[in-house]
Amino acid sequence: MDDLFLSKINLLYVEDEESIRNILAKRLSKKVNTLYTAENGEDGYNKFLENSPDMILTDVTMPKLNGIEMTKKIREYNRDIPIIILSANDESNYLLSAIENEVSGYIMKPLDKDKLYDVLEKNAKAICLEKINLAQQQQIKKQQVLLQNIINSERNMTFLTDFYSLKFANNSFLDFFGIQKTSEFKNDVITIFEKHEKFLDRDIVKDEFCAMKFFNEIEKLDETKRVVLIKDRNSNIKSFYISLSKLDNNLFLVSLTDITKMTLEKIDTEQKAYYDGLTGIYNRNKFQEVFEYEVKRVHRYKYPLSIAILDIDHFKNFNDQHGHLIGDEVLILIAKKIQEKIRETDTFARWGGEEFILLFFECTKEDAKNKADFLRKEIEKTYHETAGRITVSIGISQYQENDSMDDLFKKADDALYRAKENGRNRVEI
Ligand code: GH3
Ligand code: MG
Ligand code: MG
Repeated sequence: MDDLFLSKINLLYVEDEESIRNILAKRLSKKVNTLYTAENGEDGYNKFLENSPDMILTDVTMPKLNGIEMTKKIREYNRDIPIIILSANDESNYLLSAIENEVSGYIMKPLDKDKLYDVLEKNAKAICLEKINLAQQQQIKKQQVLLQNIINSERNMTFLTDFYSLKFANNSFLDFFGIQKTSEFKNDVITIFEKHEKFLDRDIVKDEFCAMKFFNEIEKLDETKRVVLIKDRNSNIKSFYISLSKLDNNLFLVSLTDITKMTLEKIDTEQKAYYDGLTGIYNRNKFQEVFEYEVKRVHRYKYPLSIAILDIDHFKNFNDQHGHLIGDEVLILIAKKIQEKIRETDTFARWGGEEFILLFFECTKEDAKNKADFLRKEIEKTYHETAGRITVSIGISQYQENDSMDDLFKKADDALYRAKENGRNRVEI
């Protein structure tokens, strides 16, 4: 066997018999890196403290401290250092206490040198590998600390996820959620992303708790669309630009740049651009946008989509008899009534003048007619304190593949015309 590892080892050899010690020491000194010798247990213990050898080879029967007693004392300092006992046959009663003191080898005299070197080399190998391992671990640890420092000094919120849980989050992230350390974050990672129709949200994937699909979808998006909303510890919604790096198949590094100031202005202008000033409901612009969005989904999921145009009957009379302000009040009253009675998924907007429009999602024209009739009856029951009874006429149409907004609207408008022709306060398809 080569003494590959042994040559890197500093060995302490303890033996009281000078002649034996000299012979073996001469041989050992050629094999190890540094050899220390000691002439009894006490000397051995002192040399151990002085020189911190990697390994100890010791005789048992010695004056002052015997090999076992020395081992016991050394073990109080160091539980790991390999200690190899050389023992004569008639000293086998030491074996048990040697085992108790966790010696690494127990070699019988007369000495078989090959066996001795073999035991020494094996222990040397273990020591060397342990040292390499330790050095590698220290290196990895250093790199981790460096990386964490870099990530922590970032103002961006950065985190590492396996798509479900949080593996590491930087200080910005922890501050944002008001937690001290990553392990305090107990939620599924995907749940931090708020739903919002204007921004990217977790609804882009059907399976709402699978972050993997969510992140994959984000990666496909145009850079300008990679905006997500996240609620902070005080429930303030902030918007972030999200960037992702896939580290391996099961790990994503996610970085979030706060762009709330920029998007708040955008939301504010959009608010003005999308809502009707008088009634506070959506305006025509917004409706058209929702329509375009829904049409795309209709193509994908093949569900029916219908619209209803609703026009107040003889509205001109309200204006003429009671003045424009009362006319406005009637418009507000009707808008409020309808908004109360429709489903959250239905879209309702003021089309212009005294006309309103509704988009019924996942709804055939027959279902839409029923819904519209329900609304018509609700309005019929509604009285304005000055203007009195109000009625509406409603035209319905259902989306057919490749219809434009104009096509669909034209069909509904024709139906509305028939509703007016046929006596008003009614619904036509
Ligand atoms: P019909 O039953 O056939 O629908 O009769 P109508 O009187 O409701 O229909 P017409 O289209 O002749 O009249 C609509 C009126 O609505 C005319 C217009 O002055 C009035 N109008 C449009 N926008 C507003 C508004 O914002 N406020 C008020 N007060 N009136 C409005
Ligand atoms: Mg009209
Ligand atoms: Mg009218």
